[in-house]
Amino acid sequence: MTDCIFCKIVKGEIPASKVYEDDAILAFDDIHPMAPVHVILITKEHIATLMDVDKNHTDVMGRLIAAAQKVAQIKKVAAGGFRAVVNCNSDGGQVVFHLHMHLLGGRKLEDQLG
Ligand code: AMP
Ligand code: ZN
Repeated sequence: MTDCIFCKIVKGEIPASKVYEDDAILAFDDIHPMAPVHVILITKEHIATLMDVDKNHTDVMGRLIAAAQKVAQIKKVAAGGFRAVVNCNSDGGQVVFHLHMHLLGGRKLEDQLG
C-alpha cells in the first residue's frame, strides 16, 4: 500500500523508534504515547483491519502475539502487567488502517477500556 504510513515505516521511508523486528512483525514506540510504555506492533504485510484477518493469517497473528511478549520483556512490563489493544474501524477508534496492536504499560491503567 503506497499511501499507508505504517507500510512506509516497514520500507524505511518514515523513521521510527524500533523496539523489535523480525521477518513478519515490526514494533516501534508510538509518537503520541498514552503511557510510559506505548509500543505499536504491526504485521509487515499490509492488512487493513482486524476484520480483514483470515485463515491465511493464522501464522502471522501468532507471530504478533509472540512479538508482544518479547516487547513486554524488552520494555520490562511483562511481570508488572500491560494492556494489548487492537482498535477496529471508526467506532473502535482506528485511525491508521494497517493492522496494529497497542502495547501499553508502565503505569496503573484505568479499569475502563473506552
Ligand atoms: P489507532 O487509533 O489504533 O489507529 O492508532 C494509531 C496510532 O499510531 C496512534 O496511537 C498514533 O499516535 C500512532 N502513530 C501514527 N503515526 C505514527 C508514526 N509515524 N510513528 C509512530 N506512531 C504513530
Ligand atoms: Zn500498510
